[in-house]
Amino acid sequence: MFENLSERLSGVFDRLTKQGALSEEDVKTALREVRVALLEADVSLPVARDFVKAVQDKATGQAVTKSITPGQQVVKIVHDALIDTLKGEGEPGALKIDSPPAPILMVGLQGSGKTTTTAKLAKRLKDRDGKRVLMASLDVNRPAAMEQLAILGVQIGVDTLPIVKGENPVQIAKRAKTQASMGGYDVYMLDTAGRLSIDEELMRQVEAVRDVANPRETLLVVDGLTGQDAVQTAENFNDRIGISGVVLTRMDGDGRGGAALSMRAVTGKPIKFVGLGEKMDALETFEPERIAGRILG
Ligand code: GDP
Repeated sequence: MFENLSERLSGVFDRLTKQGALSEEDVKTALREVRVALLEADVSLPVARDFVKAVQDKATGQAVTKSITPGQQVVKIVHDALIDTLKGEGEPGALKIDSPPAPILMVGLQGSGKTTTTAKLAKRLKDRDGKRVLMASLDVNRPAAMEQLAILGVQIGVDTLPIVKGENPVQIAKRAKTQASMGGYDVYMLDTAGRLSIDEELMRQVEAVRDVANPRETLLVVDGLTGQDAVQTAENFNDRIGISGVVLTRMDGDGRGGAALSMRAVTGKPIKFVGLGEKMDALETFEPERIAGRILG
């Protein structure tokens, strides 16, 4: 049975009798448990190591108030440090979509939930922010993916760029830009093709689209259940394409959330939204508190 971090730490501190300031040794003992908990939550080893080191510096010598136990004190320090690491600058979920029509580039691997997330985000921009949104699928190799976006568009009342056979992704991106300008749209979203794994052709294609579209936001959609693979994907896309944020999907599943921490630490880019189901309104702004809660158990 998985024992949560609070319980683990209470156990550790029950064995310690000291009162007042936590000694360095006490903190070390507790932080070993923190590290195990982070690794169990799927945080990568180097990130867990760095994180624990930062917490250790903060925790050493901090006075323990009478009302709480040392275990809780350490949990609080860890919790606050998690929030600090996870939170982005500015409002959660804020997007740079001034100066219409603002292009948003959606990138990610096939099956990550990219098309679903494109539509969810379009709906959110329309319903909450009153934006006029145009969506375009650039997945020329999978006609079914293009049709999927068109069907979702009808379902949520958001326009999609008409499908023209024989165009390449760059041509579609240019047409989307023209139509968005002429049609008075605030935002146009480019749903790029995915692959089952990262390959050179995918990256070249996304680069070419990025270069013509000059996106205001480049959002990487990753499956939150894939743990360390998701972190690797984020690192690759960020190095090659330069992302502005991440959308973590399938967070309605039982993933432990450690990937979020690793991703943030490795790419330096904020997680902006989380997908919480298949329905079109199952997209929420990323709340660091919730993920911290998941990681701490
Ligand atoms: P794409 O290949 O990346 O475009 O992936 P799709 O958007 O087609 O999504 C693949 C599957 O994942 C679909 O069945 C979606 O309904 C499902 N999906 C997407 N996002 C979520 C999510 O946040 N939670 C759950 N449970 N399913 C999701």
